[in-house]
Amino acid sequence: MNGHGHGHRSTTAAPVVVIGAGLAAVQLADSLREAGYDGPVTLIGEMPGLPGQRPPLSKEFLTGDLSRQGVTLRAEGFYADRDIRLPAGHRAVRIDRARRTVALQDGSTVGYGHLVLATGTRPRPLPLPGADLDGVLPLRTVEDAERLRTRLRAARDVVIVGAGFIGLEVAAACRALGRRAVVFDIAGQAMGRAVSTPTRTSSPSGTARGALPWSWAAASPRSSAATAG
Ligand SMILES: Cc1cc2nc3c(=O)[nH]c(=O)nc-3n(C[C@H](O)[C@H](O)[C@H](O)COP(=O)(O)OP(=O)(O)OC[C@H]3O[C@@H](n4cnc5c(N)ncnc54)[C@H](O)[C@@H]3O)c2cc1C
Repeated sequence: MNGHGHGHRSTTAAPVVVIGAGLAAVQLADSLREAGYDGPVTLIGEMPGLPGQRPPLSKEFLTGDLSRQGVTLRAEGFYADRDIRLPAGHRAVRIDRARRTVALQDGSTVGYGHLVLATGTRPRPLPLPGADLDGVLPLRTVEDAERLRTRLRAARDVVIVGAGFIGLEVAAACRALGRRAVVFDIAGQAMGRAVSTPTRTSSPSGTARGALPWSWAAASPRSSAATAG
């Protein structure tokens, strides 16, 4: 690797390079050390700073109970103690499997023995007219959450598309902030893909709106109307 990282424990073990420095990458690096692997481990993350975690972004971070620093996954010492290299702020742009190198956006390259792709996912864009309007926001990154948090300060009614864990957590955060929240989902019930039928059927489905922290509306392709609770 050119210009990143510091000394490692073994000069013979094949270097492990991970593209992505999220939860999966950090856990993999930790597990490798736990299992006794003593070669170089490098996590290439495109985001600057220490790797963050996403779970608080739809909860405490959104309600303002957690700062940006609070969403850090592990403290700096965690990586230093385990000799995990963390050249943050570097986007991997090319893999050369013949040479076993990864090219970074700044023009440098990183050689690998084993290459792991842990690049996560991205929100599925909603293919609807108006999905790009001002005030329609995705939630995935800490920057997304910051934008949403700022908009929530001035919002009164919030419409959430997607009644999975994240959508419902955002609805709960909105209610904690005193905003009205309506959740839409194409399925007939909340948490359709996330939990088993018995759990799902005991979840709210529009019958007890007054008692719920948020209201719920199933949005099927044939029925597009829904009202706020
Ligand atoms: C708002 C929200 C709340 C959530 N709450 C929970 C929860 O309560 N409980 C739970 O279990 N799960 C929760 N999740 C899901 C959980 O965060 C994910 O399952 C987890 O982040 C997946 O980890 P990952 O390492 O696979 O991907 P990610 O965390 O997405 O990490 C991948 C990293 O790779 C980087 N990357 C991508 N391409 C490149 C490249 N070319 N070069 C360099 N870096 C690159 C990305 O920038 C990213 O930082 C939540 C997710 C969100 C969005």
